[in-house]
Amino acid sequence: MNSTVVEISLPALRHNLRQVARRVGTVPIIAVVKANAYGHGAVPVTRTLLTAGAHQLGVATVAEGQELRHAGITAPILVMGGIFPDDVPLLQELSLIPVLPSRDAIFMAARLMHSRSAPLPVHLKVDTGMSRLGLTREEFLDILRSDWPPTLRLEGLMSHLASADAGDGESAENQLVRFRELLDAAKSAGLAVPAAHIANSAAILRFPASYFDRVRPGLMLYGYVNRPAAAAELRPALSWKTRIVQVKRVGVGQPVSYGGTFVTSRPSTLAILPVGYADGYSRALSNKGHVLVRGRAVPIVGRVCMDLTVVDVSDLPDVRPGDEAVLLGRQGAAAITADDLAACQDTISYEVLCQISPRLTRVYLED
Ligand SMILES: *Cc1c(COP(=O)(O)O)cnc(C)c1O
Repeated sequence: MNSTVVEISLPALRHNLRQVARRVGTVPIIAVVKANAYGHGAVPVTRTLLTAGAHQLGVATVAEGQELRHAGITAPILVMGGIFPDDVPLLQELSLIPVLPSRDAIFMAARLMHSRSAPLPVHLKVDTGMSRLGLTREEFLDILRSDWPPTLRLEGLMSHLASADAGDGESAENQLVRFRELLDAAKSAGLAVPAAHIANSAAILRFPASYFDRVRPGLMLYGYVNRPAAAAELRPALSWKTRIVQVKRVGVGQPVSYGGTFVTSRPSTLAILPVGYADGYSRALSNKGHVLVRGRAVPIVGRVCMDLTVVDVSDLPDVRPGDEAVLLGRQGAAAITADDLAACQDTISYEVLCQISPRLTRVYLED
């Protein structure tokens, strides 16, 4: 038996997808399942979301698309993270749709396609203010003045919002204005754009004007958002549990774990957990984080190690080896969320979820 497991609630995933659909109505949903579906397991999550009504999939890399195709998934897959010349044959072979973020990428892909094969469907990405992947406005307008390469078929135009979850929303509104401008320019130039899309989770929750022809939720499918008001309608899908492997009593003044960064100030009962940073349980949680044992939060003492972590259970009666310890999720009335862990680690829920190591078994549960 695995001592540490990651449990994924399939009903929670379906529920969260319904919350997207409830907001966007008939706009097709590109479920973003990059990074092993934010740590939840790409193939089972994808199957669940497709059965529940997602229309297309978004991944970061060709290898991620390949994993889904090898599992027999036939839905359209958008590869959003940029491509290299040696990716082009695989894109064709696997029917993956690349997002092309630059003039060079467009002409590279066009040149590498055989003129006799069917045109490669592509989406273009325009940079509307994030200064990351995407054609600049000038580059895009320049493309509109050139002839569209016959070996590519333009299926979509997308952009990405830098701050949809932050501040007063002005930055996102500005990006939406620029995106609309570029769509209008394409229309005037006679370049048909079948599908325009820009909305991530935060925009789905906050900017109905961002829906266009597709939406691209990631985080909210997994039950998290950066806007607390909307969190209530979502259900975190992932729980992370382990079992106590040893319980030991130590005296006062006893240093704990590497470097002795914690020293007991009383006779203490320590519980040793067989989980550590190699599992994605961040070393930043050392002397800061908590786990749930017997329905109560108990503190991590000393440094989180590669495969082991120590917690102080002195205040709980009768803790035994084999008892469950919840790292993330609920136990009785208590809960630890990815946002709680993120706060200790000085990061965001996204990173907490996708750093959970693939070495841990994922178990998929109906409630
Ligand atoms: C990851 C990603 C998304 C999903 O973002 P969330 O904030 O998780 O909803 C959407 N679009 C692109 C291009 C992405 O890379």
